[in-house]
Parts: sequence; structure tokens; C-alpha cells
Amino acid sequence: MSSSGIAESAVASLAAGERQRFLDRHPRCAELAARARHALFGGVPMHWMSDWSTPLPLFVERAQGARFVDVDGHEYIDFCLGDTGSMFGHSPAPIAQALREQAGNGLTSMLPGEDAVVCGELLAERFGLPYWQVTTTATDANRFVLRWARAITGRKVILLFDGCYHGTVDEAMVRGRDGRTVHRPGLIGQARNLTQHSRVVPFNDLAALEAALAPGDVAALLCEPALTNIGMVLPEPGFLAAVRELTRRAGTLLILDETHTISTGPGGCTRAWSLEPDFLTLGKPVAGGVPCAVYGCSAAMAQAMQLARQHASEQGHGHGHSGMGTTLSANALAMHCMRASLERVMTPAAYAHMLAMAARLAAGLRALLARHALPWSVNELGARCEFQFCATPPQNGAEAEAAFHDSLQQALHLYLINRGILITPFHNMTLCCPDTSAADVDRLLAVLDEALSALLAIPG
Ligand code: PMP
Repeated sequence: MSSSGIAESAVASLAAGERQRFLDRHPRCAELAARARHALFGGVPMHWMSDWSTPLPLFVERAQGARFVDVDGHEYIDFCLGDTGSMFGHSPAPIAQALREQAGNGLTSMLPGEDAVVCGELLAERFGLPYWQVTTTATDANRFVLRWARAITGRKVILLFDGCYHGTVDEAMVRGRDGRTVHRPGLIGQARNLTQHSRVVPFNDLAALEAALAPGDVAALLCEPALTNIGMVLPEPGFLAAVRELTRRAGTLLILDETHTISTGPGGCTRAWSLEPDFLTLGKPVAGGVPCAVYGCSAAMAQAMQLARQHASEQGHGHGHSGMGTTLSANALAMHCMRASLERVMTPAAYAHMLAMAARLAAGLRALLARHALPWSVNELGARCEFQFCATPPQNGAEAEAAFHDSLQQALHLYLINRGILITPFHNMTLCCPDTSAADVDRLLAVLDEALSALLAIPG
């Protein structure tokens, strides 16, 4: 029996019934899945889309606000929200308007417009970092900041917390095992030895952090203020302040990836908790779901970047390739949408509602788990909640992973999907958007209650 306290046989029995129910209710999905198998590798446009809990891909017809409708006509309350890409709801009205406005005005030109200036100003005001750059994905933002960090410090090693995820950034495709850094299991086509320049320590472990910084070869610590991709691990009181102090003392730059923790408030954890990163990265919802990401830096970093550029261009005859940038970065469409998002979508009023709904959900989840006497726990981070199959919230990535019970998680998710509710796959994360109502939250709680009752009624 895993730490979930649920017998595998009960999970298997619930899952079998739910898979059949899904197949019975989704003839059109089945039809598209059959066609897709001939045209798309694995029957999906991105291979991990076949890893959801459903026996076939759930094909979406349309989405709006907190809801989407599948091709079989079933409506869902969406608590996954594109794993944060649609954290402010699907197609928010200001983004739809921005798309229409820009549609006939040019989509990409490799040149800036006024929107870029406004976005830079708004980002500086929001996060307290003066200088900004724009990329297409959060992965890119992280990759480029790592380049800057190495150029600035002249060091090669990147430090990460075990269980992190920062996009498909090579340096972060590592895990910690018995105090050593190893390649992340499941990596495909990896040629370079990543452990040469990446080092991993457990979250919430200051002694390990200090030891990892001690050789003086660490360019940057790339981290989220809380781990959000291996379940959820919150920082212990004082941990992040000590992280800042130790990195500063070691001459190591601190990069905060706020791509998920932007759920905390308009300025992310950086503003909410008065953090002082050298760099901040943010992607996913920053342009309302249109591909776009940003990174910001302090004045000192900007100065050092300028020097690094000068040095590189002397070597590159004035127009060298920096190893950063993609052609569509900061394109006119993305910039117009980001401006609309910063001005009219990611507002304090939107957050006030999202946080209230998430608090209602977290309280409801705790009451539900207590009622069923389940040894599980609930973590919250602004608009984001996570329930985990362990009695006390995990302190690091290894503890969070030990609480995984994949078959149980998949069975519960599928039960919810079959009753019109979607939560984030691969862990138990929920997001509330400005369109999520109290009734939506209560519906999730009621259906989960039903699922747990059904599961616990199956003889183990
Ligand atoms: N940073 C964090 C914290 C993330 O969770 C993710 C994606 N889940 C990324 C970066 C990468 O985002 P993208 O896949 O949009 O590049």
C-alpha cells in the first residue's frame, strides 16, 4: 500500500469502469483519435498529450472563461487552465480584442513598436526589476538567462532544486539521487553529460545549498520560489531569505522562475514576499495564452550584460550570434496581447477573485479529506491548490515524489473528467481563474467527494 492509504485493487476497479464510461460517452473523440493515428505521431500533435488519464485524447471544440466543450458536446469546468497558460480564463475579452486589433496590422517584423515600450514599463512597475527582454516561451526565457548568467560570472555550473521543472532547458533535466546529480529519467536523445555543469540540491535544505555553493563555481541558482511541478512544495519560513543571502555571498546569481508562482499575485512571489532576484522569468499566461514570455533583470545585471555583449561582439566582428533569440520573439501580435494582458487581464481585481475561489477550494478539500479520514494534505499558493497523497505537506522534491500514486491520481482525474471537471494532469493541481464561480468550486468538491466515496466503498 502506498502512502495514499488506498489499495491498488480498488483503484484498478474504479479506473476500469471509468475508462469504459469515457469510451461510451465519446464516439466523436474515438473517431478523431482513429484518424489522428494515421497523421500524427502517437495520434496527438505533441506526444505527451497521450499521457492524460483518458483512454483516448479528449478533443476540445471550444473554450471560453472557466469552461470548455469537447467534440462530443460535453461541457467541462476547467481547473487545469492549460497548466497556467490560461490562468486568467480561456480567451479573455481584452485578449480577443487585442487579437482582432492586431490581426490586420502586421503580425511579425523583427522590429519593435510602442507596445514593447509600454510592456517594459508595466513589467518594471509590476515586478520592481528595471530591464526586460521578450521571448516566445518560458523555456526560452530560462535558457537565455542561463547564458547571461554564465557570461556575467564567468562560471559554468547551474544549481537547481531536486524535482524542479523549468521547461525543456537542458541544464534543468537533472535529478538528485543519494546526494548525487543524475540525468532525469525518461530523457530522450541526450548526448551531452548534463551532470558536468548542473548540480542539484534538495529544496528547503540550507546546509546542502551552502555545500553546493562552496566550490565557488556556480553561476546561478535557477529556481521557483515554491516547487510546483512535482506536486507542490512550499518554502519553509526564512528559507528564501537565506537562499538570497547564501547566493549573494557566493557570487552566485539568483534567477526566480515565476511562470507558475505568478498565481500568487500580480507581482508573483517576488513582490508578495519581497524577494530580490537578479533575474526573473515568466511565460505561459503573460500574453493571455498567446505564446510569449519575458525575463527581467536588475540594473547591475543589465550593466554586466552590456559588457558581455561588447566582449562578444568584439570577438564576433560586431554582429555575432549570441545564442539567444528566436525569429518570432517579441512579435507584434504577442506584444499587443501582452500589453492587453498586463493592462486589463492580470489585474489586482482578477487576483482578488481567483485567490478567494482558491481559498474556498483549499478549505473544502481539507474538510473533504478529513471527512473521509484520508492521510492526504493540501497546499495553496494564491490561485493554485494541490492535494497530495501524504499526511503532511512534503518538504522537498523527493518527499513529494514519494507521495505519488499515479494509478490513483489517474483514476480520480478520469472520474472527474467523466463528470465534466478537468484538473491538471500528472499531479493534483487546480487553478481558479476570474470566471471560476463558487458554484464551480463546490461542484468540484462534490464530485471528488463522490469519487472518494466510490473508491472507499470498493473492498480493498
Ligand atoms: N517554468 C516553469 C516553472 C514551468 O512550470 C514551465 C512549464 N510547465 C516552464 C518554465 C516552461 O514553460 P514552456 O513550456 O511554456 O516553455
